[in-house]
Amino acid sequence: MMSSIELAVTGRMFHAPTPDRLETIDGVVTVDTDGVIADVVHDATSPTAIALVSQARKRWRLLPWERLLPGLVDTHIHAPQWPQLGTGLDLPLENWLFDRTFPLEARYADVGFARDVWEHMVPTLLGLGTTTAVYYSSIHEDATRLLAQRCEVSGQRAYVGRVAMDHPTGTPEWYRDESADVALERSRRSAGEVAEIGAASGLVKPILTPRFIPACSDELLMGMGRLADEVGAMVQTHCSESDWEHANVRQRFGRSDTEMLDAFGLLRAGTVLAHGNLVSTSDAALIGGRGAGIAHCPLSNSYFANCVLPLRRLLDAGVRVGIGSDVAGGASPGLLPQCAHAISVSRMLEDGVDGSIDSDRRGVPGSRIDSVVAFHLATAGGAAMLGLNVGVFTPGSRFDAFAVDTQRSASGMREWSGIDDESRVFEKIVHLTGPEAITSVWVDGRLRSGTAAVV
Ligand SMILES: [Zn+2]
Repeated sequence: MMSSIELAVTGRMFHAPTPDRLETIDGVVTVDTDGVIADVVHDATSPTAIALVSQARKRWRLLPWERLLPGLVDTHIHAPQWPQLGTGLDLPLENWLFDRTFPLEARYADVGFARDVWEHMVPTLLGLGTTTAVYYSSIHEDATRLLAQRCEVSGQRAYVGRVAMDHPTGTPEWYRDESADVALERSRRSAGEVAEIGAASGLVKPILTPRFIPACSDELLMGMGRLADEVGAMVQTHCSESDWEHANVRQRFGRSDTEMLDAFGLLRAGTVLAHGNLVSTSDAALIGGRGAGIAHCPLSNSYFANCVLPLRRLLDAGVRVGIGSDVAGGASPGLLPQCAHAISVSRMLEDGVDGSIDSDRRGVPGSRIDSVVAFHLATAGGAAMLGLNVGVFTPGSRFDAFAVDTQRSASGMREWSGIDDESRVFEKIVHLTGPEAITSVWVDGRLRSGTAAVV
């Protein structure tokens, strides 16, 4: 009888199905021919596990110092900003946008340039374990189509959105859609192209992308809400990121970002709101109620947001949250470093940062998160926000994963015998994994980056 088990992986694996639960699987995971996890058996020596491994077409045994983890879901990343990674971080957000970012994004009218960047970026991100990325592209349809094609060819799960922006003062005249009608027509056409590119594999999907309220006219925002109904695509935008951006919306409408996005029909199930640092309690209730979520971009926020996301308050309010690199506002690609940043900034929020203030008034009690919460958000949390069936090792989930060799990292990671139990190894992986330690990356049951000793 032909087996439907394509791959059997044996070894030690971690996943965080809920924010407060790290689970170690020391056993066997099997993957069917469609890339879906079929079985999870916790004891590799059990008769069931042995039978499953024997039926598999391919077998992969992790080394004792390797661990397998669910693939990372980057819920917010600006693809065209890749060439300015690590630069301009001393500028206020509005200067960073107008003096650095918009001029760079305007260059993507040149498809050769776009192709060069995508060919460098997508494989790099995959190599860092980013199996899913929610991309802002530029305003250009050709560059956006090429980005979708690059993700499809490399086998990265992705949402790809052509940016819509037409505001006469919120955007420079040399980098904007000429009118709301033009923006809507380009967005409709681009969403159709991206959907077509991803139709066969199911990996790549379009996402409607009004840049943020300050960059869009009322007419465009209203039209994008209608377009989301028409084409059935998800939406991404920025929300209450910084003092400047938050105040801009308040001045224009007398209401919050969240309220206005809802009024324009953009706050929907699966809508990705980047940042959300300044959302109020009532905003949070509205976001949760609509089934939208927040992409927490901790490093970018440290540079540009003027405050720290009240993550614990949002999670307690039932808001879905994922982690975003926010390349290039966040100067570090890959999500494990972002997990570490999310933990650091939560501690700063809890304790406060100004030593001249009495400790009992300095911070916001109850704000801290740990490695498990951060990793959950970077995997299962982000996936749930996007409605994707990835992020955990459970039967029925799609097999997106990456392997870490704890002996290979140049960052000082090592498992010390008699000292490190599995939960400590997990913490070390979150904090100390260097790019060189990520040895193989899988999307939909197929090896997409690195090597694995599959026989
Ligand atoms: Zn952003």
